Amino acid sequence: MSFDYHAHFQTAIDEIKADNRYRYFTTIGKESASFPKARLHLEDGSSRDVTVWCGNDYLGMSHNEKVIEAATLAAQKHGTSAGGTRNISGSTPLHTALESSVADLHGKQAGLVFTSGYVTNSGALATLGRLMPECVIFSDRLNHASMIHGIKNSKATCKIFHHNDMAHLEELLQSVDINRPKLIAFESVYSMEGDIADIKGIIALAKKYNAMTYLDEVHAVGMYGARGGGMAEMLGAMDDIDILQGTFGKAYGAMGGFITGDAVIIDAIRSFCSEFIFTTSQTPATLAACLTAVEHLKTSHEERRRLHENAKMLKDELRKAGLGFHDGKTHIVPLIVGDATCCREIAASLLDAYNIYVQPINYPTVPVGSERLRLAPSALHTRDDITHLVSALKELWEFNHVPQYQQVS
Ligand SMILES: *Cc1c(COP(=O)(O)O)cnc(C)c1O
Repeated sequence: MSFDYHAHFQTAIDEIKADNRYRYFTTIGKESASFPKARLHLEDGSSRDVTVWCGNDYLGMSHNEKVIEAATLAAQKHGTSAGGTRNISGSTPLHTALESSVADLHGKQAGLVFTSGYVTNSGALATLGRLMPECVIFSDRLNHASMIHGIKNSKATCKIFHHNDMAHLEELLQSVDINRPKLIAFESVYSMEGDIADIKGIIALAKKYNAMTYLDEVHAVGMYGARGGGMAEMLGAMDDIDILQGTFGKAYGAMGGFITGDAVIIDAIRSFCSEFIFTTSQTPATLAACLTAVEHLKTSHEERRRLHENAKMLKDELRKAGLGFHDGKTHIVPLIVGDATCCREIAASLLDAYNIYVQPINYPTVPVGSERLRLAPSALHTRDDITHLVSALKELWEFNHVPQYQQVS
């Protein structure tokens, strides 16, 4: 019998549906005048306003007037496309300016801009691992899918250490010949836990065992450090990390990713990374938005101050209401539900009855039993938004008998 393509793909979909892992998208139209409120569009054609509590536009930069104006002017002046890959007619002065800007942000010799943070990690890690002979990559167990993709693609040997566990990392480092090239890949702020890596501990081990370090600062750039350079800047550790990676898609309110580091290493990635070479480069509007946001946040502290103030207020209110969350000491607030169906039902009630939009986070993004609502306060949420959210959660926690979460630290 000949292969039934349609049936094959239908089965694949049916399986994840049966497993409760099928993804339903929530369609929301954002309006700069009212962000973080947005217009929820339903299948029946109706729409209404909801407050977004799961966005990564942490500082509201995608609605910043200066950023919007820069993007608009760039499109009008330079058109809507870069017109090619970086190598073939697609390198513009905006690229050069943005790469200098991120290099300066991290105090590094050079920067390189990619079309997304995902592509940056998957491309850069794959290239680094491939270029170093017999390379061993040490990867935190909770690293983002983009890093895992890159590491797998590099064909290097990979050793996974328990999340943020320095003793385990050292044990693994010891098990490898000191002369083999090594790379430790980790994140500064873990996106689903909201906790902070032991950056200094990893630097010390990297020095002891002659390993390179690659740090994903996606959930920290723009938001931490005196100029938005991230956690490594805040800890005074930027000089000791070989490659710092970030995104323009979260706190910078635009799209794209970047790495910064030693000029020769960046040049090697520029020269060998397929994900960088064989793709149309970013649009003028995007580049102008990125550049304006990065430069703005080097000197403006107001957005950061408001974000951290709102995160603190949210955590204080949750504590007062007796709602247990995992306090990773950052702006990300994971509220653990611990059951996939309950997590999904609570998120649906929040939307239906309270006009609050939080996407439930279930397996495989997080382990079974730790299903959660990942609350993401932004600089633009108001005190009323926060009290409305917490009172809604309290009612739903009681109604659904969610067991009290005890933080293990
Ligand atoms: C979102 C994310 C990325 C990918 O960045 P994009 O710019 O959205 O592609 C990489 N690493 C981590 C930890 C992330 O959370």
